[in-house]
Amino acid sequence: MPYAYKITGTHPIKLKDFDPGDDAGLKREDAAEKLAKLCDELTRLQELLYAASDHSVLIVLQGRDTSGKDGTIKTVMGPLNSLSCNVASFKVPTEKERAHDFLWRVHQHAPAEGEITIFNRSHYEDVLVVRVHELAPEKVWRARYDHINAFEKLLADNDTVVLKFYLHISKEEQEERLLEREQDRTKYWKLSVGDWKEREYWNAYTRAYEDAINKCSAPHAPWFIVPANKKWFRNLAVAEAIVAALKPFEKQWLKDLDIVGQREKALIEEYRKSK
Ligand code: ADP
Repeated sequence: MPYAYKITGTHPIKLKDFDPGDDAGLKREDAAEKLAKLCDELTRLQELLYAASDHSVLIVLQGRDTSGKDGTIKTVMGPLNSLSCNVASFKVPTEKERAHDFLWRVHQHAPAEGEITIFNRSHYEDVLVVRVHELAPEKVWRARYDHINAFEKLLADNDTVVLKFYLHISKEEQEERLLEREQDRTKYWKLSVGDWKEREYWNAYTRAYEDAINKCSAPHAPWFIVPANKKWFRNLAVAEAIVAALKPFEKQWLKDLDIVGQREKALIEEYRKSK
């Protein structure tokens, strides 16, 4: 059973209709066991993806401050082989990046064949923070939904599996997480007055996220709304969605690898005979 809500653009969604505290009735211990299995499965699929090099995988992580983007990367993607897995984090654009179109800095981090790339924030910031804080005129950011759709179609047409995750936390949960950091001096380094200031724009971000999800969801580039108030459930939901998206390719990858293997085996035999 999927734990994250897959959005493919069939009908518009509202975030209030998704419970951030959802845990599908699971117990934490059972979820930990399931997660361990899924991480093993993901590692195995990653090896096949890399060896077959027929596809690449782009995982986009978005969410409000404290929603757990870093924690998801650490727990779900941490066990992956770094040989073919990269993380690209997108911060406030540099002067050079700002002098180009908004996809310029993003496209160069798109995964190559066989690779998995995780975007920690992404091109969606250009229709989120940019919209909320009016960093560009409306005409400019409005046109970006089409640009994003065209970009993601291009990636999909080039055999990139595009999976986008919105880590959905409640306003109360965010406050708890922010206050928790202030209780522990060893976590002070995570404090940011900016997080409290951004919180004041909660509703504007809700509208911006809803538009991003509603305007930029497609079967080839779905969004997943991940209930993220419970960190253990968030991790499970993301891992499950990635495995479910990659599993259908397994047969093809195994078949292709078998052909490659047979061919090489024949070459070795031929070589031995020729000696
Ligand atoms: P994070 O919060 O992801 O752990 P930072 O605290 O460095 O990392 O935050 C990165 C900041 O960069 C965020 O406030 C985000 O909104 C901002 N940012 C990312 N992309 C853009 C963009 N295209 N335009 C403006 N700000 C951006």
